[in-house]
Amino acid sequence: MVDSKPVGRRTVLRRTATLGIASIAGCFRSDATENGNTGSDSVSSPDKADSDQVSNASDDASKDAAEDEWFENGAVTFIYDDGPNDDLEQAFPAHETYDAPATVGIVSEWMERNDERWMNVDEVTRLVDAGWEIASHTATHVALTSFDLVEDVSPGDNRIYPEGRGQHGFLLGDPIEVTDGEKLVQRTVVESDDDDIGRYLELDEPINTAFTAEETVERYTEPFVHKQLADSQKALAEFGPTTFLAPHNVIDDRHLDIVREYYEGVLNVNSGTPVNDIPFDPFDTNRAYFAEHVDRDQVYADLTQIAEENVYGVLGAHTHREEVTQDRIAETLEWCNELGIEAITFEEAISRNAGE
Ligand SMILES: [Zn+2]
Repeated sequence: MVDSKPVGRRTVLRRTATLGIASIAGCFRSDATENGNTGSDSVSSPDKADSDQVSNASDDASKDAAEDEWFENGAVTFIYDDGPNDDLEQAFPAHETYDAPATVGIVSEWMERNDERWMNVDEVTRLVDAGWEIASHTATHVALTSFDLVEDVSPGDNRIYPEGRGQHGFLLGDPIEVTDGEKLVQRTVVESDDDDIGRYLELDEPINTAFTAEETVERYTEPFVHKQLADSQKALAEFGPTTFLAPHNVIDDRHLDIVREYYEGVLNVNSGTPVNDIPFDPFDTNRAYFAEHVDRDQVYADLTQIAEENVYGVLGAHTHREEVTQDRIAETLEWCNELGIEAITFEEAISRNAGE
């Protein structure tokens, strides 16, 4: 699965992307630093951007305003997942070269660990001071979706088999619920492993009700989901996050409705393409990777479409992956630059999209 195919790099790259000498016509951030305020709370005000862009348009004209204030050759948001130190070492220098801000999705408990793998508060503050946006990525990186059971549950069972949960992780001790929409049972996960049937969750107490596979899902309890969002929001408060990045690249409608109570948009609701029409729904976004699980030709083709159609792209990467290098990031920024695409934060994209 590693993206090791050097696909057509030279056929799509007309100029060599070289750090430090790039012309910076396209990938400017358009609001630079506001009002000389370099404090970390400078991103917390929802109306911080573009005081000169604020329109007096009436509600009737707001859609026209949105179209007027969108960009000439499209815009993209670069979103980096999880907050590894590689964001500072690989992504930050490339983005500084192009004066292009990005967004990072921070797992607040990892940030607070002071573990060298993850950026700590001071390191995240460096990004914020450079105009980057901090998005919440939950407190402990939990998958906010519902998993179909692949095996029926009989009264007395304390193992359940939620399809896909094994790939999306969970933490022992987390509270989950099993429901078919009518019956609902809440338990705590005490173990997970594989048996002859497949990947299972072992629960602290048996389920005393029958459930039919495929009509039944396993998911976190609602108070637990709220706690994940509230704890993260509190830990990130000084950065004033207004947007959310879904862990494990999954989120369903139930969890989107909960996230709406905290944030103004989710960066990665759908995957497969980075292209979003304008205006876009901040809770129905498309996000694709640009350096992992994808070939260069596709990335360049998507960027060309974004520029030609003057729409919005959301491009993601995990900088701790081997193939996500500073050069690869700089190359993608150079393509934006060539195509005249603006690099902006998700927060700014939502604001522009709304004509604010
Ligand atoms: Zn993540």
